[in-house]
Amino acid sequence: MKLISRVLATTILVALAAPSVMAEDKGYVGIAMPTKSSARWISDGDNMVKQFEEAGYTTDLQYAEDDIPNQLAQIENMITKGVNVLVIAAIDGTTLSNALENAHAADISVVAYDRLIRDSANVDYYATFDNFKVGVQQATTLVDGLKERFPDAKPWTIELFGGSPDDNNAYFFYNGAMSVLQPMIDSGDIIIPSGQMGMDTVGTLRWDGSVAQARMDNLLSANYTDQQLNGVLSPYDGLSIGIISSLKGVGYGSGDMPMPIVTGQDAEIPSVKAILRGDQYSTIFKDTRELARVTVGMVDALLQGGEPEINDTTTYDNGVKVVPSYLLEPVPVTAANWEEVLVGSGYYAADQIQ
Ligand code: BGC
Repeated sequence: MKLISRVLATTILVALAAPSVMAEDKGYVGIAMPTKSSARWISDGDNMVKQFEEAGYTTDLQYAEDDIPNQLAQIENMITKGVNVLVIAAIDGTTLSNALENAHAADISVVAYDRLIRDSANVDYYATFDNFKVGVQQATTLVDGLKERFPDAKPWTIELFGGSPDDNNAYFFYNGAMSVLQPMIDSGDIIIPSGQMGMDTVGTLRWDGSVAQARMDNLLSANYTDQQLNGVLSPYDGLSIGIISSLKGVGYGSGDMPMPIVTGQDAEIPSVKAILRGDQYSTIFKDTRELARVTVGMVDALLQGGEPEINDTTTYDNGVKVVPSYLLEPVPVTAANWEEVLVGSGYYAADQIQ
């Protein structure tokens, strides 16, 4: 008896000694991320857990390694565990409708994180970057690079790569880029020797770098035996790595074969290093700390009865409704500004890059 009451007393004391933890427990947030194979999603997850905890929330963070059934199971599991909110960066933005029905039935709010969730009324808010602008910036740096590295090579030869066709963002990136490139194709300043255009043709399922590398190999052997390639529109650093290794495989970047201008996205460390080596020309920095901050703010407002901050109510129609969104600003990065943007903002330490 004595032992039991001593244990009880200790338990009560421990509980009393930690009132802040108890009082701060503002809610339980399920965070479903697509994959750990890309550093950006690891930063997204880490930043969210940190910021949610600082704001008094507990979290359940899961990665699905780009496997759709795996992500569905993780989301169902979070619903069963009783989360109050789901924050989801979907692998395939069109496959979550049933899971979100269940979330809705359990009174769980849903924030689409970075990627829009399509074909569902049960998406409350969307936190992302200005994805069309990302594409505009990618194409603008591509054209800047062409002018800089190939001033006398007009018409410039380029090839296009798109992101994953099941990711709504991929269309925004592509359309943004084409808003810059199409007029130059029409005027004859740019040519696409393969003729391959349109997301149906140039999309890269699951953003897979090895798929992009194989396609680049084919494009080179079919179209560039008697002319040189000047530029490649790549929508993501992980694809750029595959594209660059294909280019180097046939001799670009040495002798009389200058490296084509290759774009990217996410400012991942290996790609920033590739920019400093001159292999990649540009990337787009999207500050995942900021995206986490916006998302935590949205969730806090949803759960504590405030108004989530939004700045776009027209762009992101998911097929069922226009999802109220907050769009952050992407920032183009080249060898000229990487230090100021990436180190100056505290996102990386200089010795991570150099
Ligand atoms: C994200 C990009 C990322 C890509 C591949 C997109 O949905 O917006 O930042 O490069 O997925 O992970």
